[in-house]
Amino acid sequence: MLAISLGTSCGSGIATSDSLLNSPLEPVSTSAESSNFGPSDTTQINTPSATTATTTAPGPTTAPTTTAKAPTATPFTTTKPQASASDCYLTGSRSALTLAHERPTDRLYSTGNIDVVVLFTDFQDVSATQSTQSIFSIISPGGENFLEDQSNERLQLSFEPHHQWLRLGSSASTYAEAIKTYDGHRKFMQEAIDLADAEVNFLGAEAVLVVATPNATEIRYGPTWMGVPSSPLRADGQIMTNGITSGADLTYWKHLWYPHEFGHSLGLPDLYGASIPGRGGWTRPFSLMDDISSSAPGYMGYSRWVLKWIDDSQVRCVTANATVALTPLATPTGAKLVVVPLTSTSALVAEVRRATGYDAELQREGVIVYVVDTNNRGRNGGSYGDGPMEVLNNARSLGEGESLTHFGVSFEVLESQSTQDLIRITFNDTDG
Ligand SMILES: [Zn+2]
Repeated sequence: MLAISLGTSCGSGIATSDSLLNSPLEPVSTSAESSNFGPSDTTQINTPSATTATTTAPGPTTAPTTTAKAPTATPFTTTKPQASASDCYLTGSRSALTLAHERPTDRLYSTGNIDVVVLFTDFQDVSATQSTQSIFSIISPGGENFLEDQSNERLQLSFEPHHQWLRLGSSASTYAEAIKTYDGHRKFMQEAIDLADAEVNFLGAEAVLVVATPNATEIRYGPTWMGVPSSPLRADGQIMTNGITSGADLTYWKHLWYPHEFGHSLGLPDLYGASIPGRGGWTRPFSLMDDISSSAPGYMGYSRWVLKWIDDSQVRCVTANATVALTPLATPTGAKLVVVPLTSTSALVAEVRRATGYDAELQREGVIVYVVDTNNRGRNGGSYGDGPMEVLNNARSLGEGESLTHFGVSFEVLESQSTQDLIRITFNDTDG
């Protein structure tokens, strides 16, 4: 799941990876805070970094305070929205990976049908020993099913596999090194495309997935390549600016590996790499963009909103004291998010997680509250407050009667039912 790039904050060699933390290909770390550094899993052209220009310094989050049990007589009396969802749109950098509401132009559309040609490669010195169908079954249909679920059936992924091992011209270790750079990764995928071009029609394909035989342990992880139109992949007269390569870690992560990398093709940043004591990532266990093997790997609700998988009508933009009912994120209907804007580039977000659907293994249900900061890239081992998102309260969800306060805004769960939670948002004079 690692990312590679040319020197941005997603930079080569020094960004963090829970792939390395958890993968059997590496010694398993016993401490999330001590050794989760590794290369990144995206390959992109260098862009000017503005990551140090964060405007807000997160303050401490209060521990949850258990209060007297909320009254139950009128539990779901909510207040009317004070602002439209568009008042909570966040701006941000125009980089390849961003949480800004306006999506990066060179990434894939997040709705509709996406055609992805799948090519299978082995190497001069490492032959494939399994059938292409066997390897492909790790990815599909699990990957498509997950994305269809997460997008509320608004995104349909159509893989077009070319079931033949394509023998590349160099050694596996040569490619393992090459795909750590933008142009090396592009040339690797282009070689596979050229080998297949006589038999594969690329017209209409938006992206490619190049599967490297997992026998090539030199290619330890599978990165995402984020192209630009001036230096694209070319096939059958068209250009493509999105591609993903698999590595040996495919057999570890299984069907959620591709949805993690595909998140990058949609412009979502990694959420792992936190150097917060006791925490390997900023959002785990609540997102596969943090930890693919999470107990609740669904994309974060805020991400689903900017990808247009959640409608504006399902978002409550809160700018004054309010009481809001939210339904679980894993269910398709109802209000899903409370968004409290802090600045034009940051917000507090609340959503309800339940042990259902792809989040079925979630250990602790409840309301999670997190910071979104579009100026934060969250790589290079950032600490508290450095992540693009960060689930507050030490990533512990709030149950009925519990609350937290951050940046002077309190979130209190007044009542929790199986189908919805009632949350009171209070703006305080001082940060409590
Ligand atoms: Zn990643």
